Amino acid sequence: MTAWRENIRRVTPYVPGEQPKDTGIIKLNTNENPYGPSPRVKVINENMDMLRLYPDPTASLLVDELARYHGVDSSQVFVGVGSDDVLAMSFMTFFNSEKPILFPDITYSFYDVWAELFRIPYERPALDENFRLVKEDYDKENGGIVFPNPNAPTGIYEPLDNIEEIIKNNLSSIVIVDEAYIDFGGETALPLIDQYDNLVVVRTFSKSRSMAGLRIGYAISNSELIKALNDVKYSYNSYTMNRPSIIMGAESVKDEEYFRKTVEKVIHTREKFVEDIKSLGFSCLPSSANFVFATHERIPAKEIFEAAKKAKIYVRYFDAPRINNYLRISIGTDEEMAAFVSFLKEYTKL
Ligand code: PMP
Repeated sequence: MTAWRENIRRVTPYVPGEQPKDTGIIKLNTNENPYGPSPRVKVINENMDMLRLYPDPTASLLVDELARYHGVDSSQVFVGVGSDDVLAMSFMTFFNSEKPILFPDITYSFYDVWAELFRIPYERPALDENFRLVKEDYDKENGGIVFPNPNAPTGIYEPLDNIEEIIKNNLSSIVIVDEAYIDFGGETALPLIDQYDNLVVVRTFSKSRSMAGLRIGYAISNSELIKALNDVKYSYNSYTMNRPSIIMGAESVKDEEYFRKTVEKVIHTREKFVEDIKSLGFSCLPSSANFVFATHERIPAKEIFEAAKKAKIYVRYFDAPRINNYLRISIGTDEEMAAFVSFLKEYTKL
């Protein structure tokens, strides 16, 4: 092999859900929100001149608005280009021990990719037979812990007492709780930040704020850890957040009423959808997210996935151990879910 080939960093990248170019598709495969962002969030097309200038590297407009919203100091908020960026920065900043970091065997499939990319050793304790986190498995030496709550792709929420126990039993390492889906169910770990200096909570605008296309995520923690994150960010790329994102993100946070209303709508549709497909022979794991993880009593998930795709309905299928007979179905509008239920009604009859 040519010498330089040996020096290339080789990774198996994360595979995001498909973003089809076709029109007329019912898209339930990447946990987007079917409702638009708050009407306050306007594309700023009259003021293109602003793009001439670099953005504020501290993104203070958005940071201050998030601090106000969560009742914390601005020094406790870090923003990034989607929570993927915030999580990647967090892995780089906090997971630098020789000991393995821990995350569940079934979870967000980016965690192992970042661990490989940054050469962080890792172990993956198995979820139990009901896909619940086994908190005792995290009572071992480690170089850090990360998990989503609610978990993905299961949608299962882990009660805060259990989360607290994991944080409390691991005071010598950083625990990252990825709350990408928390607005759709469950109690946030944010209040624990005042008690535990090893906790980082990560959030996103992509799901409950319906702004996946803009790419905004953030972390909340104590000011020491947020400074560490910012120091790494400024050593990598000072201007991660562009001007329109900073402005539109701040506008979204100001519109609490719209946020609550659309989140409630998604939850309501989710509950109805779960009932509807139950009568067709599906069972769903209890979901606290904007998606459900469903399996059919008779028909293999992969077949349903492929048939639905032919009918222009996209859901997500993971060909991975333990979950390869499940479909992850994002919650769309009532009309979209009704169309999917009609399809399933016909399909399951065959
Ligand atoms: N965490 C979890 C658990 C997710 O499912 C996702 C969505 N792919 C993300 C983080 C990243 O979301 P985003 O980068 O859009 O904020």
